[in-house]
Amino acid sequence: MAGFANFLSPQVFTKSCLFFWRALQRAELFRHFCTVADLARHRGKRNSLVRLLIDKGIRDRSVLKAIGKVPRHLFIDSSFEDFAYQDKAFPIAAGQTISQPYTVAFQSEKLNLQAGQKVLEVGTGSGYQAAVLCEMGLKVFSIERQKELFDHTRPLLQKIGYKLFMKYGDGYAGLPNHAPFDGIVVTAGAPEIPKALLEQLNIGGRLVIPVGTNVQKMKVVIRKSKSDFEVHNFGDFRFVPMLHDKNA
Ligand code: SAH
Repeated sequence: MAGFANFLSPQVFTKSCLFFWRALQRAELFRHFCTVADLARHRGKRNSLVRLLIDKGIRDRSVLKAIGKVPRHLFIDSSFEDFAYQDKAFPIAAGQTISQPYTVAFQSEKLNLQAGQKVLEVGTGSGYQAAVLCEMGLKVFSIERQKELFDHTRPLLQKIGYKLFMKYGDGYAGLPNHAPFDGIVVTAGAPEIPKALLEQLNIGGRLVIPVGTNVQKMKVVIRKSKSDFEVHNFGDFRFVPMLHDKNA
C-alpha cells in the first residue's frame, strides 16, 4: 500500500513519465537510424557498382558520382538489402519495380543536363532515380500515379535529405504549371510518346522515354525548335507499363 502511495507521489510520477518519454525518444532515434543508416559496407558495394557501370559504358561523371552517393539499400525492403547493389531491377510495393542501376544511369546520362537545370521524372516509384537526379544537382519534379508508392516515397526522400517537388497524379499530363523542363525522363514503358510531355520541353531539352509494350526501345527526343523534334533510338529495355489515370 505504501509502495502504491509512493508511486502516486508527484516526484515519482514525473520521474516515471520522463523515463518513458526518453525511452520513446531512444526507440524513435533507433528507428530513424535504421531508416537512414549508410555504413562502410554499403559504400564499398556502391563503389563496385560504379566500376561495373563504367565497364558497361556509362561515362557521365555526374551520373557516376551520384550513383556512388545514393544509398540504394534504403529504397528497397530492408530484408532484401543484399540485392541493393546488384545491377538488377527489384520488386517494390504495388507490383512495381525499382529500375536496374544501369537503366537509371543510362537514362540519366541521356538527359545530358547540367547542375541547376530542371528535370521532370514520370514514375517516382521507389524514389531511387529521383534521388540520383537530386545528387546530380538538378531541380527535380516527379510524378507517381500509385497512391501507396507516393505515400511511402515522399516521406522517405525527405528523411534521407532529398528536396524535390513530388505530385500524386497521371504523368501523361506532365506538370504544365511547372513547365518548361530542360529534361523529362519517363521510367515506365509508354505505348507512344505523350504529346503533353513534348509540349513541356524547353527548346534544346530532351525527353528520354522507353516506348513499346512488351519490350521497349529507348528513345531520346530533342526539341530543336517550337515545332521540330529529333528522335534518336537506343537499345531494348524492359519497364513496367505507363498507365493512364491515378490509382488510389
Ligand atoms: N523511377 C522509379 C521506377 C519505378 S517503376 C524508381 O527509381 O524506382 C515505374 C513507376 O511508374 C511505377 O511506380 C508506376 O506506378 C509509375 N507509373 C506508371 N504509369 C504512370 C503514370 N501515367 N504517371 C505516373 N507514374 C506512372
